[in-house]
Amino acid sequence: MVFSSAVAFSKLLLRLCISTLRVFVSVSPIVWRWTAGALKGTSSAHGILEERKVQNAMTPTSVNYHFTRRCNYKCGFCFHTAKTSFVLPLEEAKRGLRLLKEAGMEKINFSGGEPFLQDKGEFLGELVQYCKQELQLPSVSIVSNGSMIKEKWFQKYGDCLDILAVSCDSFDDATNQLIGRTQGRKSHLDNLYRIRGWCQQYKVAFKINSVINTFDADEDMTEHIIKLNPVRWKVFQCLLIDGENAGETALREAERFVISGQQFREFVDRHSSVSCLVPESNEKMRNSYLILDEYMRFLDCREGRKDPSKSILDVGVTDAICFSGFDEAMFLERGGKYVWSKADMKLDW
Ligand code: SF4
Repeated sequence: MVFSSAVAFSKLLLRLCISTLRVFVSVSPIVWRWTAGALKGTSSAHGILEERKVQNAMTPTSVNYHFTRRCNYKCGFCFHTAKTSFVLPLEEAKRGLRLLKEAGMEKINFSGGEPFLQDKGEFLGELVQYCKQELQLPSVSIVSNGSMIKEKWFQKYGDCLDILAVSCDSFDDATNQLIGRTQGRKSHLDNLYRIRGWCQQYKVAFKINSVINTFDADEDMTEHIIKLNPVRWKVFQCLLIDGENAGETALREAERFVISGQQFREFVDRHSSVSCLVPESNEKMRNSYLILDEYMRFLDCREGRKDPSKSILDVGVTDAICFSGFDEAMFLERGGKYVWSKADMKLDW
């Protein structure tokens, strides 16, 4: 009795061992593949990219596309210089813009270089029209030095443009000459006032961008700004970027234009009565813009230079944006999201 029970128990134990072994044999390849895959994934570039994608899942809500680096001005502090003359074919640029729209873009800003230089403003006009009419973006804007804009451009494309920002650092033409914010002996200020009139006439919101530097830091611009009445007056502290306006490979030497944080604050305080003023110190400015270069690569400014990602045309927006260095929190803190569609501005044209 005892013997037969022992034999039965041994048989049961053997069956259990065999079935456990079967389960282990069938499951182990899965466990092995999963473990090996995970280990391989974390140690490879692909794994790093996947990690970054999870950590940096962000939407390209507002994008600055510098489609050309060429410019007819020679501002001494320029931080996007003519290092190449490359411009994407129009259809490729449109393809990239569609990818951005599909990834969540709401605002596009075209910049340069001087964006009106390419094909006498027609390239820019086509992109503006495409973004408003085809992609239906809430906001389409341009930053320009203003020197190449003709009235017929407004007649043709003005409807599709929400905001035009014109750069102006001084209301003294002699100072603009010293800065390089001019072409030959032409008056930058005459252009500025002429464009202000066209913006009103063709219902485009008008904005002014000023870079505060050693040459204009002591100026009081209040009277002119109130007269021009922009929807926004962006005031930037002159910024050094290695490879652009500082360092051995740069096309500019901007060190002599740099002002201290204290000088910048004094300029801002002097203009505190101007309600449309939006100040941006170096700290606020550096990583709070999503910048696309002429190849549609995001530029990462975290190391004080512009490190490019791969092009969104090659790897898509999600993979490229991980390498943009974009600080979304700072973007929101500096008021990067505002009423940016002219339909919502309730302007008294
Ligand atoms: S206008 Fe001046 S700052 Fe702007 S792209 Fe031309 S040179 Fe550079």
